[in-house]
Amino acid sequence: MTKYIVVTGGVISGVGKGVASASIGRILKEYGFSVTAIKIDPYINCDAGTLRPTEHGEVWITDDGGETDQDLGNYERFLDQAIPKLNNITTGQVYKEVIDKERKGLFLGQTVQFIPHITDEIKDRIKKAGQGYDVVIVEIGGTVGDYENIPFLFAVKSLEDEIGKENIIHILVTYLPIPSHIEEMKTKPTQISVKLLRENNIEPDFILCRGKNPLDEIRKKKIQIYSHVPYENVISSPDVVGEGTSNTIYAAPLYLIRENIGDKILKKLSLQKRKEGNWDKWKMLVENIVNPKKTINIAIVGKYFDIGDYQLKDSYISINEALVHCSAHLQTKINLEFIDAKELEKNPELLDKKNINGIIIPGGFGSSGVEGKINAIGYAREHNIPFLGLCYGMQLAVVEYARNVCKLEDAHTTEINPSTKNPVIDILPEQKVIYEKGGTMRLGAQKAKLYGKVKEIYKKEEVYERHRHRYEVNPEYHEILSSHGLHLSGLSEDNKLVEFIELPNHIFFVATQAHPEFKSSLLNPSPLFVEFVKSCIIKSEIKIDNQTYSLPSPISTSVKLLDQ
Ligand code: GLN
Repeated sequence: MTKYIVVTGGVISGVGKGVASASIGRILKEYGFSVTAIKIDPYINCDAGTLRPTEHGEVWITDDGGETDQDLGNYERFLDQAIPKLNNITTGQVYKEVIDKERKGLFLGQTVQFIPHITDEIKDRIKKAGQGYDVVIVEIGGTVGDYENIPFLFAVKSLEDEIGKENIIHILVTYLPIPSHIEEMKTKPTQISVKLLRENNIEPDFILCRGKNPLDEIRKKKIQIYSHVPYENVISSPDVVGEGTSNTIYAAPLYLIRENIGDKILKKLSLQKRKEGNWDKWKMLVENIVNPKKTINIAIVGKYFDIGDYQLKDSYISINEALVHCSAHLQTKINLEFIDAKELEKNPELLDKKNINGIIIPGGFGSSGVEGKINAIGYAREHNIPFLGLCYGMQLAVVEYARNVCKLEDAHTTEINPSTKNPVIDILPEQKVIYEKGGTMRLGAQKAKLYGKVKEIYKKEEVYERHRHRYEVNPEYHEILSSHGLHLSGLSEDNKLVEFIELPNHIFFVATQAHPEFKSSLLNPSPLFVEFVKSCIIKSEIKIDNQTYSLPSPISTSVKLLDQ
């Protein structure tokens, strides 16, 4: 019998439900259970594909081509397993399905209603995503008390009625603020959240108390009394995790096991541990993040940084996390410098002044800052600075190379300049007929045959990385690019699509049409990121600042792809 753990949030959004859910999943996996996690997003969009990154954070891509909420990324990074698109349920999907069924006459004359049709559809989706697993974590987005949450809370309650209380538990993650004018941790918002949850007929079994500091005895007791949750199930989950440790989300499961949450959950679900958890490797990796031996500086040149007066780092969260995984494995602190590409359009010398050991150009869309990104790539190429290009980053590296090495001066992507005489990056013919915005890109895991340095990096002949793009390196330019020394070192099965490029005579100049950051987890970091960071470490140690590196000479005039 599959067991369910429903995680809801109280008080504020962004309280850390995702990390809590992922941590609990990791703990149960360590105990030998098969675990999956579902994210419910109450918005009406069918998926996250059409959402603006500055508003909602990064769009996460699944192996099976889903464009989903970034919380699925948290689950994958902690659980170290692929989570399919089925595991992200949105209000839009649910209503669309119910309305489609109604139009097909599948309700046989019934009046189709919020209860039970919408709530049953939610329940069915939860059960389908959880099929075959021992434990399913169901994280309900937003905050208890939101209007939008109601159908989902109703659905999980009705799931509880169906499968019995012994097979489902509820964890409420709340926030305990410490207002600066009184410097005291307040429990009242938590009490109100519990009340709101009960108004939806849901009894919390656990309350996970997030806050700047650990929960003290007095407040723990107070929450127990007001919420009628057993004292031992009021769990403290502070920002600062443990003695002398810094703030890494990967320490969260370690903190939670100290609170014995895994055993308490298993007891509630009448499950016996299948094995003792072994946290040695996890602890060592967290220790490496917290106590690094070296420090390097990496620049991410992109857009999507500012929202109002705040910077939203979540726009590139998977890249940040992939780099954290490298920190953990290479015991190196990585200072990230977020550079707005627009600034480099006007002032490319800015890079000279920064002590940068590596440059990443992330994925992106549209014209904003494009020339700045191209300038940064040229700078990395000419100054032998480690460079990693991701998706748009690879496309713009091709533009830069075409312009400055192949001397095709107006080379561009047709995404920006549809009438360029040298469309080195162009839309795929099969994408040209698609006019809808959502779900129309080349998405999900795609095979690449590997050659050259990337073959050594991945230690295999082919790799499946995740994609999300409409444009490609134009096959008509493969020959001129490779004959000028750009190695097309990863290709699709039919050799038409360029998946990886690299420069051989450079400390590290590799770019890919894919997003390897989506396959990086704490236990298994992305090999491409690890090699890139290793080069950045070398670069920081050898200190050949601003040394101009000789450009690779043309290797041949005919199309000769690596190892072919
Ligand atoms: N805008 C480019 C394309 O659609 C790159 C997309 C990306 O970086 N994810 O092909």
